[in-house]
Amino acid sequence: MTDLHSKPQLTTIEVRKPADGSVIGSVPVDGQQAVAAKARELRLFQPEWEAMGAGGRKEWLLKFQDWILDNAERISDLVQTESGKAMAEALLEPTMSADIVQYWARNAADFLAESHPKPHSPLMKVKRLTTVHRPYPVVGLIIPWNFPFMNAVIDGIPALAAGAALLVKPSEVTPLCAAEFARGWAEIGAPPVLGVVNGYAETGAAVIANSDYVQFTGSTATGRKVAVSCAERLIPFSLELGGKDPAIVLADADLERAANGIAWAGMLNSGQACVSVERVYVEAPVYDEFVAKLTDKVSRLRQGDDDHRFRFDVGAIATAVQRDKVARHVDEAVAAGARVTTGGKPGAAGTYYQPTVLVDVDQSMTCMTEETFGPTLPVVKVADEDEAVRLANDSDYGLSATVWTKDVARGERVARRLEAGAVNVNDALANGFSFALPMGGWKRSGIGARNGGAYGLLKYCRTQAITAPRIATQARELLWFPYKRRPYRATMAVVRAAAARGRRRFGLKPKGA
Ligand code: NAD
Repeated sequence: MTDLHSKPQLTTIEVRKPADGSVIGSVPVDGQQAVAAKARELRLFQPEWEAMGAGGRKEWLLKFQDWILDNAERISDLVQTESGKAMAEALLEPTMSADIVQYWARNAADFLAESHPKPHSPLMKVKRLTTVHRPYPVVGLIIPWNFPFMNAVIDGIPALAAGAALLVKPSEVTPLCAAEFARGWAEIGAPPVLGVVNGYAETGAAVIANSDYVQFTGSTATGRKVAVSCAERLIPFSLELGGKDPAIVLADADLERAANGIAWAGMLNSGQACVSVERVYVEAPVYDEFVAKLTDKVSRLRQGDDDHRFRFDVGAIATAVQRDKVARHVDEAVAAGARVTTGGKPGAAGTYYQPTVLVDVDQSMTCMTEETFGPTLPVVKVADEDEAVRLANDSDYGLSATVWTKDVARGERVARRLEAGAVNVNDALANGFSFALPMGGWKRSGIGARNGGAYGLLKYCRTQAITAPRIATQARELLWFPYKRRPYRATMAVVRAAAARGRRRFGLKPKGA
């Protein structure tokens, strides 16, 4: 398999349409010096951006939201062409992006508000205590190709709302949508605190070298390299990585809803969502009925190039490398005894792979252990809830999971037994559309999280503690030089009195005791 990211000799990236392989555009590759120059420029304008406060930034962000909505059709056309996804899913990107922008724009002032915590000790009552949130000046954002416009918005807008400047490196597979993102920002006349640089791994490394905080979304393998580079520079980072999300279908589930939901969550974006359902565990009494329903629903999905019309449910896969990985997982499973109930083959032209359901799979097959990131749903029969939970947790990944049952309280109980950053009961992807909740992976699916209300902005900030006197100050504090016994013992007695448990420890021991 070729390494998609390591092509340092190239000075231009040719962008191809996944539906037929035709060239639809090109962008220059930015080398280390170009990235450093862009970061320097962002640093010049960031202080002014921070100083205008959340209220001033809100005006620009809402103008950007207007721009996205005014250009939604053009953006979704480009998303569709560049990524190969179905038109409905392409339209989701500008629409959801507008929702994301308004959420952070309207809430940033509250989320970033300074606070004055209560002093923990009587001695500190003479101080005014303040916690301030100051942004990292330049946030580097490295993103994948699966949501080529929305990925920049999801993590980039909260960084801008926090007052940081944003340096984006899109995937080399989909640079045109990120260029559109930057074009919109420039077109509304917003301060130049958003820059886009293009390239492969080397450009990503240069972004890390020139940022103060790195937000990375991509594979676990690349995420590990990003973490090492950030550690060398001692800069903070957040990683949103791969997943192998399990779905658990309990015997009391509404099977019709479960089959519809799992078909959608497994095939959405041709399975190229980090939170796609990638494994299904079904309790034995309903296994046959569920497999029949799922097979029926998946086999009815219409696949093809929407070419800007709403004709298909499932589009192409973004790259040939990715399509071949999907094919390998299916072929290896079949060679080891699995059975395909629908799909199971690549398309004739373009980078398509048929929506596929696999049965008779076992936990050791690559389709159950490695992230597939494609339109496949392997289904396993389990004896009971305990076995389902055990197998669902038997994975290096822990991004999200779904549980399907008519007993919602039971679903929530099962959720608390799962090792995953998010669990949706009788639904899929719902947490990702709820910005008040954190979205982050456990185990090898990530470090940190996005969203989560105030957390989604505060992660891009350095907290600063400020103390200031509440009362008139003297030339010298009691505890300053030169040390004197009486004031020291008196002060320590106050601290002891506030902290100690029991009368015996309450006062200082008499001198010499
Ligand atoms: P990838 O890891 O191959 O690439 C992601 C980005 O990192 C690209 O922009 C790439 O150019 C850049 N990059 C590559 N090597 C680099 C290096 N050494 N230093 C710095 N940057 C480097 O991922 P991909 O194939 O583009 O995307 C698919 C992956 O993304 C899947 O694993 C998927 O699960 C994951 N993903 C996760 C989430 C989430 O929120 N958890 C969301 C979407 C996608």
